[in-house]
Amino acid sequence: MNQSTEQKFWALLKQQSAYEEAIGLMAWDMRTKAPKKGIDNRSEVIGILAEKVHHIQTSEEISKYIEELKPKADDSKLRSALEDAEETFNRTNKIPAQLYKEFVTLQSSSESKWAEAKENGNFKKFQPYLEELVRYNQRFAELWGYKNHIYDALLHNYEPGVTVKQLDQVFPKVRDALTKLLNNVQLADAAPDPSLLQGHFPKQRQEQFSKEILKKMCYDFDAGRLDETIHPFAIGLNRNDVRVTTKYDEKDFRTAVFGTIHEGGHALYEQNIDPELSFTPLATGTSMGIHESQSLFWENFIARSREFWENHYPLFQSFAPERFKQIALDDFFFAVNEVKPSLIRIEADELTYCLHIMVRYELEKALISGEIKVKHLPELWNEKMKAYLGIVPHNDSVGVLQDIHWAGGDFGYFPSYALGYMYAAQFDAAMRKDIDVAGAVRSGDFQLIKEWLTKHIHQFGKTKKPLMIVKDVTGDGLNPDYLISYLTNKYKGIYQF
Ligand code: ZN
Repeated sequence: MNQSTEQKFWALLKQQSAYEEAIGLMAWDMRTKAPKKGIDNRSEVIGILAEKVHHIQTSEEISKYIEELKPKADDSKLRSALEDAEETFNRTNKIPAQLYKEFVTLQSSSESKWAEAKENGNFKKFQPYLEELVRYNQRFAELWGYKNHIYDALLHNYEPGVTVKQLDQVFPKVRDALTKLLNNVQLADAAPDPSLLQGHFPKQRQEQFSKEILKKMCYDFDAGRLDETIHPFAIGLNRNDVRVTTKYDEKDFRTAVFGTIHEGGHALYEQNIDPELSFTPLATGTSMGIHESQSLFWENFIARSREFWENHYPLFQSFAPERFKQIALDDFFFAVNEVKPSLIRIEADELTYCLHIMVRYELEKALISGEIKVKHLPELWNEKMKAYLGIVPHNDSVGVLQDIHWAGGDFGYFPSYALGYMYAAQFDAAMRKDIDVAGAVRSGDFQLIKEWLTKHIHQFGKTKKPLMIVKDVTGDGLNPDYLISYLTNKYKGIYQF
């Protein structure tokens, strides 16, 4: 019997998923276990498989199926898959192959120039590359098209449906509230003693604790594993194989403990997507921001809460060196919630983190729209750091050169991090209306929380756009008040002002 068009469409998507799973597994291997000498060969293999994916996404074949099926698609899974495939087809085909090839070449040379420039704190070395990367992004944005602001076209790659207009309504509010809150924290009399957390913490015991916590979060070890890496990540190959990686710093347990919980939050999302969506591009998180909301929810709203440590401090102490038995819960809790403006984004605490994002967002938006020039970046960066965080980098390595994103040609990505914080606060407030979150965390039983997240967020994969999930879960649009009041209440309590 001949296959129907719909069957052929699903079969083609399945083929695409198969290539993507192979790429994912190789990428995981490259970042965890692969021998150093194997990397170049493996990168080439990934490149060849990525071409296969690109070929399917931009093929006449898929375009024909979309055209035929779209008018009569009546079930929601098929409709979502068609919309997703059509959008990928249109956006990818808008960029001429030659232009994209040039960009990929520029990306790889820029990353190595950036690494060099960062090492020497020499922005000038990287400047011409960054100027080119900005130009390419501007060209892509023009080709993709936008309604109001050129940056919208780039934002769309990471947070579809969110626009500059929306961000400019909420980000300044967050920025101003957080700078004020930071000021209050700095004026407060109470202060934590972070030196309590120092000491030698054997890797093996950190690993045991990390595994225990992942299990408690309802992370399914029969559908995943935990490995070590340099830059931690989680990766969903399919819902039954979602891997977490972490990093053990024997001098600072926070890296592994909070890092594992963070990646565990990403992993739970991927493990709990509706199995019906398997082998389609819908079987993944819907956006960078929603994904980040899941990791940040577990890392901060749960694992940095007082209730969490009321239950888990004894467990932690059982794996920790002897001296932690002498440290009172209150002191420990205060120390892991220390607020301290830092130059480096990835080392920032929960309160100041979004301020780092504001610096980047404001600058990259102005770069793409042509309001500012690349050569002025270091100066503008330092001005904004001073204004929002009260500190100024002593050189560009710990300033404008610290992140790889721009060197990789990624513009429009940074806002996802701050959006993740805002979404997480909105979801947290909605969840607390439905279930006794504090009680569950205090009892150490996270089943209810996991079920709530699956029901309201995880199961949908990519079938719902980010703001649709926010609307359905909270009845509200993007609203920064939740994050502001969560942080205000928490830090007022801790720092007693
Ligand atoms: Zn993350």
